Amino acid sequence: MIDFQQIVENANDVILVTDSLLELPGPRITYVNQAFEQLTGYTSKEVIGRTPRLLQGPETSSKSTNAIKRALKSAHPIKISIQNYTKDNRPYWAELSIIPLYDKDGSVEHFAAIQREITAQKAYEAELLEISHKDPLTGAYNRRYSDSVLSQWFSRHTAESRKSILMLDIDNFKFVNDQYGHPAGDKYLVEAVILIQKFLRTSDAICRTGGEEFLILLPDTALSDAEHIASRVRQAIESMVIKIDEHLVMTTISIGLTMMREDDKEIKQLLERADSALYSAKHSGKNKVVLNP
Ligand code: GH3
Ligand code: MG
Ligand code: MG
Repeated sequence: MIDFQQIVENANDVILVTDSLLELPGPRITYVNQAFEQLTGYTSKEVIGRTPRLLQGPETSSKSTNAIKRALKSAHPIKISIQNYTKDNRPYWAELSIIPLYDKDGSVEHFAAIQREITAQKAYEAELLEISHKDPLTGAYNRRYSDSVLSQWFSRHTAESRKSILMLDIDNFKFVNDQYGHPAGDKYLVEAVILIQKFLRTSDAICRTGGEEFLILLPDTALSDAEHIASRVRQAIESMVIKIDEHLVMTTISIGLTMMREDDKEIKQLLERADSALYSAKHSGKNKVVLNP
């Protein structure tokens, strides 16, 4: 006879068993293994008779807990990632499977929950996503990110939504490189992004779409507000002085500005308007903001 109790007791994954009472406060814990005690910091004695909700906390998504409730009610197995909390309130991510256990007559007698901690994996995934969206030199977002935000804008485009974009290109940047060297140019780009970010809200995004070209995405922003932001950015860059070795490096920026129109069908149309505004800014003397509504 195989001693399943010993296997469960010594498993690396957390195993928790509840009764099948669904009315409030919900199923109560009847068994936890050693891995549960190690991960959560609760002893078996402390949790038996209580509900697994004691593992939930402020960041546990109600979408996940509702999905669990529905699965229990319909006696369906469920597999879900959920943020739980240890006894000393450390949040952790768990991959959680719950399966109903039936008695001889075919009614649900218990639920067994198997949890595996995936906090490190979640952090790694978030880091990878961040890296795949960012430009390593300046920390600005990259073109892949601006493309994905713009396609979201177009997929949820409504007449009321006001979205503006700024297209920026640093003026005479070849001169900066030629005069002070490529590393100086790089330093200028880094400082410019830090400065520009000061004028943006957390919902805005500055994206480096080319060598010294940027796109600023401004959701919920009317053209007049976008123009105000653009002109503050232009002035700030004009006043920015960067010390590189014994040199003081200064230049200016040109900005083309447009807003998403109700009849815009493609991202291309929006970008072309901004591009043509930028072109006008360059060809009318640079260091300018030009609107193309
Ligand atoms: P304009 O005022 O018309 O924009 O003139 P410009 O000299 O800035 O010309 P353009 O926009 O065509 O210049 C792009 C230059 O930017 C070419 C290249 O030397 C420089 N550049 C592009 N990417 C980088 C980069 O990553 N680092 C540095 N240091 N320079 C870059
Ligand atoms: Mg350029
Ligand atoms: Mg340029």
